[in-house]
Parts: sequence; C-alpha cells; structure tokens
Amino acid sequence: MSDWPNNPNEFAESIAVVGRDERGALVVTACNDAFFQMTGAVHADKPTFPIPFDALVPENARLALREKLDECLTSGGARTCDFCDGAQRWRVSLKPAARANDATVFVTGFPIAPATSQTREPDVSASRYRAVVDSAYDAIVAIDQRHHITLFNRAAQNLFGYTAAEVLGRPVEMLLPEQFRAHHARNVQQFADSTLTELRQTTPPRMDESNSVYGQHRDGSIIPVEIAIAKIDVNGVTEFTAVVRDITDRARQMELLKKQAVTDALTGLPNRREFLAFIDNVLGTDDVLSVFILDIDFFKNINDSHGHDAGDEVLRVLAKVGMSMTHEANLFARWGGEEFVAALPGADAGLAHTIAETLRRRIEQQDFAHEWHLKPIPFTVSIGVVTRDAGERDVDTLMKRADRALYRAKQSGRNRVEAG
Ligand code: GH3
Ligand code: MG
Ligand code: MG
Repeated sequence: MSDWPNNPNEFAESIAVVGRDERGALVVTACNDAFFQMTGAVHADKPTFPIPFDALVPENARLALREKLDECLTSGGARTCDFCDGAQRWRVSLKPAARANDATVFVTGFPIAPATSQTREPDVSASRYRAVVDSAYDAIVAIDQRHHITLFNRAAQNLFGYTAAEVLGRPVEMLLPEQFRAHHARNVQQFADSTLTELRQTTPPRMDESNSVYGQHRDGSIIPVEIAIAKIDVNGVTEFTAVVRDITDRARQMELLKKQAVTDALTGLPNRREFLAFIDNVLGTDDVLSVFILDIDFFKNINDSHGHDAGDEVLRVLAKVGMSMTHEANLFARWGGEEFVAALPGADAGLAHTIAETLRRRIEQQDFAHEWHLKPIPFTVSIGVVTRDAGERDVDTLMKRADRALYRAKQSGRNRVEAG
C-alpha cells in the first residue's frame, strides 16, 4: 500500500481506511487521531480496529458518507463530501484503493472555513426542516434514486414499527406487503415519468388515486394508507418524499358504510338494493332462477294488538327463520315493511314451490326455536313464487310477476303459496 503512510498520525489531516467486514458491513480498519477528532468519537488510548463505521461516524454524516463510499467502491472513482458537526464544517475526500478487487477506501478529511452567519443559514434551515419533519403527524419517508430510504421521521417509526436506524439505507420495499414489492419500482418510475405531476402543482400528487395503497408493519400486519408524493430533483437525480397517512379508521368506516348501505337495520338481512343487484347479476347469465315474495298476513293487527315492538320482534323472527331455510347460494332479503323476498338460483319451479311451502308451514306451526320477549305471537304468511322464463332478463318484470302471484295468494284466503 504505497499510498498509505506507515504512521497515520504523522499527518495533520484526518485519515481513515474504510472497508467491509466478512458480513459486508462498513468498518474503519485504521485511522489517525485527527480522524477521531473530526468525527467527535470518543476512543480509548489504543483503539482496537476494526471499528464499525456507524460507531465512529456521527449520525448526521453517516448516510451521505455511506452513499459516497458505495459509489466509490462500485465506480472506482474518487468522491468528496462535506459535513458539519455544528460549529465546524469538514470536507472529506474518498479514494478507492488502486488495486483491483480491494474493497478499501482511503478517507481523508480537513476542516474548511468555519461556518459564518451566511454559511450557517442552510444548517438553520436544515434544523428547522428536521424539527418540522419529526413533529409531523403524518409519516414522512424519503427515498433516493435507488429507492433506498434516506429519511424516516418519528411518525413513520410509529406507523411501521421500525426505528430509523433499522431502515435507513435499506430498500423501501421492506415497508410494503409482499404482493406489491415486485411492481413497486416500476410504479415509482411511472410516477416519476408522469407529466401529470408537473401539471398538478396545486394539490400534492397522489399515487393512490385509482388504487388503495397498503403498507406493512414490522409485525406483518397490513396498514391501509394514503400517500402524497413529492418528486424532488437533486442535482439532476430524482428523489421522492412520501407523506404517508394511516387511514385504518377511515377504511373501517368506509367498510361499515358500505355494509350499512346494503343491510336492513332492523333484521340485519340484505336490503332491497342488495337483493336487486343479486338478481340482476343472475339475470345476466342463463342460469335457472326462481324468486318468491312473502308478506305477513294481517300484520297491522299484530301491531295494533301487541304493540309496534312486538311487530318488530315478529319481523326479526321471520328474518331468522327465512335465513335458516335458504342455503348459501340463495339470498333472503327484506323487501320493505312486512314483505320479504328470496332469490333461489338453480331452483326450478317445483323446488322453489317446495321451499316456499316448507317456510309457510314452519311459520304457521311455529316450528322454530325462539325465546319470545313476552309470549309467542302466532302469525302466518302468504307467498308468491315465480321462475324465470328462458331469456328473461328484466328484474322489474320478474318481481311484478311474483307480486301478482302474492296478490292471488292473498285473494285466495292468505296463509298459502301461489305460483305465477
Ligand atoms: P295483509 O294480510 O293484507 O298483508 O294485511 P297487513 O295488515 O299485513 O297489511 P297492511 O299493508 O295493511 O299493513 C302492514 C303494516 O306493517 C302497516 C305498517 O305499520 C306495518 N309495518 C311496516 N313496517 C314495519 C316495521 O318495521 N315494524 C312494525 N312493527 N310494523 C311495520
Ligand atoms: Mg304488505
Ligand atoms: Mg301484510
């Protein structure tokens, strides 16, 4: 090593040799006292080398220096980099070993003009920026052009469960659920190339406009998130800063609203909207389909004699019995008031009639388990059943036919099933 002095302490300049240990981690294999001074690291009189790079280099310089070291080792070219320890600014030069296959970099550093009030300005801005980023309510994650994490604020640590030290310098894919990792780099590239980002300067561009985005916590749990991304040009290299917001509560709320929109509140059954969507779906195929509409007989009398709450209880009982009668492929729903409907895909007229008749009889005979609030309330139902004609696609026509069959059941004395 002709370009390395026998005693590094002969040099006033700070000097260090940096390499990789057998696990690939950066280590300082030798350095002089001036280097210890420059890095501000406390050391014993006779330091034991190698010293882990992170233990020696101050945190604020680690990332930049590590990046330059990587570049130096891969490109074989020299690099320089400045860092500031508060009062003093240092210029560091990195020079790879001349020999091929020698993953060693000589690092020299010397003090440059102490920070004047003018040169201190960027440091003030940097401190201000760090304070804002760290107190932000949202997680903020920045990545470099290789998609390695360069910034991970406190909220990001809370959201993802990693400390900054655990993620800095590592690929951002580690924060994504497994199934999104492969395409992430391509998505980021597409986003970087998109001209839309330039057009929408008033609102932050969002990567999640068409898709839900998910993050992955350290413990493996999936976190629904909303992301706003800023594309930054750093000396001609594109970097990204993402503001990541946990929308677990909102996602849960949306799920609830979606469910409520298709559910009847009193009985918990699917509502008319859900039923019509279901039927519409089946009518889009050529599958066999029967439906029936059921109406409680003299329900007004039940309300009048036992009270509205008892009427509600009867509606809930009917929902329970109806649901237990229909298997998975079927849909039993509340049509409105004291009327219920069933969709029976695959059931021909005969089978549909049997199912409706069994339900009618079980209700008439109170052949079901239920702990009545006060005392059992006897009731009966009338049912109109129809089977889809070949090629019939219109929901309204089908339901009108069922309604006419129900009307006939009522006209013929109630507590009966009529086919239409
Ligand atoms: P029919 O045999 O001809 O069907 O007679 P009905 O008394 O069942 O029919 P009508 O249409 O005259 O009465 C239906 C009653 O259902 C009137 C209404 O107050 C009651 N009703 C509608 N929705 C509810 C509800 O959610 N809870 C209760 N308790 N009653 C309801
Ligand atoms: Mg009615
Ligand atoms: Mg009725």
